[in-house]
Amino acid sequence: MKVSPEILNLVPYKPGKPISETKREYGLTDVIKLASNENPLGMSPKAKQAVIRQLEEGHRYPDASYYELCEKVSQKWNVPRNQIVIGNGSDELIDLLVRIYCEPRESIVIPEKSFVAYSVRAGASRVRVQTTPLKAGYQVDFEALSTFLREKRESTSTRLVFLANPNNPTGVYCPADQVEAFLAEFGNHPDLLIVFDEAYNEFVRAKDYRSGQSFMTQYKNIVVLRTLSKAYGLAGLRVGVMMAPAETAELAHRVRTPFNVSELSQAAAIAALDDDDFIRKTCEATWQGLDYFYQQLSLLGLPYIESQGNFVMFDTLRDVVEVNEALLRKGVILRPVLNYGFKTEMRLSVGLSHENQRAIAALKQVLNEIKPCK
Ligand SMILES: *Cc1c(COP(=O)(O)O)cnc(C)c1O
Repeated sequence: MKVSPEILNLVPYKPGKPISETKREYGLTDVIKLASNENPLGMSPKAKQAVIRQLEEGHRYPDASYYELCEKVSQKWNVPRNQIVIGNGSDELIDLLVRIYCEPRESIVIPEKSFVAYSVRAGASRVRVQTTPLKAGYQVDFEALSTFLREKRESTSTRLVFLANPNNPTGVYCPADQVEAFLAEFGNHPDLLIVFDEAYNEFVRAKDYRSGQSFMTQYKNIVVLRTLSKAYGLAGLRVGVMMAPAETAELAHRVRTPFNVSELSQAAAIAALDDDDFIRKTCEATWQGLDYFYQQLSLLGLPYIESQGNFVMFDTLRDVVEVNEALLRKGVILRPVLNYGFKTEMRLSVGLSHENQRAIAALKQVLNEIKPCK
């Protein structure tokens, strides 16, 4: 059978190495994973109970309109129901946006080192990815992005801008004044949708951060993506939330499969959104863990980027393939970010205190075993 060359060229998304696989390959029994920005506290106990209760109805199809979950999101995040779409993770919502707005060989634009899902989802729809350079410190260069849109938007048929705010894997955020200036020119643009992916929203400590949601009444071409995979601890249940102009939401409902969010996931999400206490605990543990990492990485002499997420990217100053291999042998799974072009950097997710300590101890040993290359 003939297969489209764009499909043949796709590079599949490479998730963090599973614990079971690491145990098997390295003959280990005690392995920790700080590689996928998951919630180390697990999921809210209320969400767990809700899932167990919902299992009784496992033979029934889910509510295709996810009425109750929609209601919960609407109240909690103060957004009208007709502007909400729930996805099988925000990954699905990214996919829907690309499929709705881009024909094959049209484009999306992203800053360099943006979350990789945008490129992967675009590729799957044969849509091109335009990138704009960053400023120092991996900051989004809004000047470069604006220049691209002014000069090349039409010739590249660019329809969507994706801004991960904060970004993964770098952890950097876009300061509010820069977002405001950018939207002053491109907000309400008739042929452009600006998508803010705010997967790490809950963890942000920067004072000059502003959610894209706060621009939605002023500008009609803003989409905001949230996920329950990170702070809410539901990565395995796959729940993403899109807040969008009503027309966009309506199109997404037409395109999505009718039962894209399982009833177990809906039940978990409703309960999780009600458990503010769990989110508070999660954020406190995360901030404490980040501060611990900053302190320890400084002591180890490893440069890092201050992060607004639940992870930190740091420079091992060594060949990351070697460092990663040595860490795996010690039963510590972190995340090399080679797929972003980072050859010596790694991403480390905040875990429980003892996991954080073990990761740092393993790293310390590995640094002594491997010669710096920088
Ligand atoms: C983890 C992450 C997501 C969430 O993906 P899900 O499909 O909802 O699990 C989205 N955007 C970014 C930038 C992320 O890091």
